Parts: sequence; structure tokens; C-alpha cells
Amino acid sequence: MFKVAPGVTHWQSPNYFAIFPAIVTYPSILGEMYSAAFTAPAFNWLCSPASTELETVMMDWLAKALKLPCSFLSTSSNGGGSVIHGSASEAITTVMVAARERYIRTKIDQEGLKEGSPEREEIEAYLRTRLVAIGSEETHSSTQKGAIISATRYRAMPVELEEGYAITGARLEAVLEQCQKEGFHPYYMTATLGTTTSCAVDRFDEIAEVKKKWPLIWVHVDGAYAGASLICEEFQHYSRQIDIADSFNFNMHKWLMVNFDCSCLFIKRRADLIQTFNVQPAYLKNTFSESGLVTDYRDWQIPLSRRFRALKVWFVLRTYGIKGLQQHIRRSIHLGDIFARLLKERSDIIEIIWGPVFALTCFRINPKKLNDDTELADKLTTKVAEQINASGKIMITASRLAGRAVIRFLPANTNVTEQSTRRAGDYN
Ligand code: PLP
Repeated sequence: MFKVAPGVTHWQSPNYFAIFPAIVTYPSILGEMYSAAFTAPAFNWLCSPASTELETVMMDWLAKALKLPCSFLSTSSNGGGSVIHGSASEAITTVMVAARERYIRTKIDQEGLKEGSPEREEIEAYLRTRLVAIGSEETHSSTQKGAIISATRYRAMPVELEEGYAITGARLEAVLEQCQKEGFHPYYMTATLGTTTSCAVDRFDEIAEVKKKWPLIWVHVDGAYAGASLICEEFQHYSRQIDIADSFNFNMHKWLMVNFDCSCLFIKRRADLIQTFNVQPAYLKNTFSESGLVTDYRDWQIPLSRRFRALKVWFVLRTYGIKGLQQHIRRSIHLGDIFARLLKERSDIIEIIWGPVFALTCFRINPKKLNDDTELADKLTTKVAEQINASGKIMITASRLAGRAVIRFLPANTNVTEQSTRRAGDYN
């Protein structure tokens, strides 16, 4: 360990303000240890009934705590439900494949062609070459990767500071119409609650309006980091808006006290996943699955085997309670505000481009100080970011926002303190 530890990037350090947090807590470590001790790769209900049942209960608890629409509950009349994946990328890729298959099925059924007929096969083969997934320049790269894995095209629309770096209804409509003009079929889009560089939120209400005209498009809301904020009442106006989505994911392992990995995926129609991923080899058949009364999570994901992640969720929820989780989120927001105030005091050399939003602030070297030379401001911002990280005192992330260089600062792990935040704000 003495040889390994110095080479580890210390995500739990009070001086870690980079990327997003990857929180670890003692209750979740304990849950993880029990899960490792049991190691029951619960791909179907029979392989470990308690793993499956606890996952369903924990995810319903979470959906209620986040005030998600009831249609995401396992008990909903629409057949909703939720599942824990290893990462947001995995969750997004999984729903993209399900979206592709649902789109093809629906389109072909609309043609009224007989199952197995050559015409049907031909139309299906052609359709598969014309599918396009939609995101924005600020959508996380996992959607683009999901499109590669789904073997479909991907279009990213531009976003602007004046529109809060968000996907607007007008921009979405323009992209969809352009796709249609070119003979493409938009089948899926990612809308984001808290984009990676700026924590921007796409305009869910406007997207909902556009969706009325394009009902076949699967809308996924990606809240990988910021979704955790929905545990607090002051952010729950977003929960209502997530009703636009066919599916929603957020990572407990970023901001909600559960250690990596724990990416929660909520879906309105579990049948969309099961119809896509259910395969029935003889060695997986059993009377419980055939009864239709149990959940086989193997049909809700890409791998077959799965870890008992619900245990650490249970330990965390029971240890901290909703109040404890809210306290952590609010503490991060408070620290984010403190840091932004400190930056404002240095507006002669620093310009805040965006934030604080969900505790994140994006800033750069003020171009006004450089005769409005934005190119030079970009170069200096990138250089400053490199020097800060090379110093080893704190860690931040350099990125680009609508083409301009920015530094991201996010005080959100459990060990960051007011003192370490202020110290970073006073960095010279
Ligand atoms: N979506 C967003 C908005 C993200 O910020 C990230 C990663 O930071 C991801 C998806 C991918 O997350 P994961 O590493 O869990 O695949």
C-alpha cells in the first residue's frame, strides 16, 4: 500500500474540487463489504431473492424521497420501475438500445406488415440505417458513445450562454425538422439535469411541448450528478418536470453518500427494457420467472450477472435518513456560494462565466484585463488551471464552455470544509 497510495488521486481530500465528487461513507463501505461477502450475482430473482427485492424497495424509497412522478414506481399502474446500474453511461446506453428497438417495433407495426414477411424485414433493415439520437454540445459524451454502441447516428445541437447553455424547445424543434428533411428518424434524446461542464438544466417544459409533436422519441433525463439535489425540497420543482421523460438516471455514487458504483435508473415502462433484452436460454428458465410474479433484473441491463448494490443504499438511507442527505447537499451549495463570493472579490482578474449552480462555479481569466483578447484569456485560463493542478495544493478541472476555456470548481465531497474552500479561494 505504501507504494500504491502516493499514486492515487485523492478524491476524498478536502482540497479536491475537480470533476464531480465520488463520495464514500462508512455505512456504504460496510454495505459494500457485506455485498462482497455474499457475492450472489443475482441475475434473476431465484439467484438471490433478497437482492432483487431489496433493490426494488430501495429504488421506490428513493423515487419517493426525490419526489419523482409516481409513474416511475414499481407499483405504478403503467408498469414503471427502477434498477441499479454501475454507471450513468451504462444506464444511458441501455435505454438507448431499448429506445431504438421500441422505435423500430412501433414504426413497423404502423406499416401493418406481417411478422416475418420480406417487406417487413426490408423496411426494418432500411429504418435501422436512418436512426439518429439527439443531444446538445453540453450533453455528456456518454450519449454519443451510446449512439456508437447502438449503431445509430448522433446529432448535437449548439447551446448558448444567453439561453443558459440549455436545450430550448426552438433549438430542439429545428434539429428534429432538419433530421426529417434529410430523411432521418430521430428516435431518442438526452435532456440533462446538470450538464457536466456547467451544471446547466435543459428546458424540460419546452421539450415537453415539442415531444407532443414527436411522440415516438424516447426522452431520457440524465441527472448523473445534479439529480441528487432532488432530495431537497428547494430543487423538487425539477422532479415534477421529469415527467417528460421515459427514463431518468442519477448516480448516488457522485453526490449522495454511496460509494462507487451506484447509478439509479428509473423507467416508466419496464416492458420497454424487458422486450428488448429478454432472451430465454434453457439454463435460465425457472418456475419463478415463468410465473411472471418476480423481477429478473438481468432483463433490465446489458450484463447478466449483477452486484448486490441495494445493500449499501439501504445502509446509507437508514444511517443518514433524508435529513442527513439533505444536509450534505445544502452544505455543498453553501460552500459553492462562499467560493463564488470570494471570486467576485477578485473580478479585476477573474470573470465568473456561470454559477454557482448546484455548488459548481465556472470562471476564467477576465478578458477585460487583456484588452478583450478572448483568445489570450483562453490560453491563460488553461495555463492557470495546469499550474494550479501541478502545484498539488488543490485539484480543479479545466474545460470549455461554448468554445471558451473555463475552470470548474466544485466543493461537494464530504471532507471539503469552509476552511479548505476559503483557502482555495485565496489561492495565489
Ligand atoms: N452524465 C453526466 C451529466 C455526467 O456528468 C457524467 C459523468 O460525470 C456521466 C453522464 C457519465 O457518468 P458515469 O461515469 O457514471 O458513466
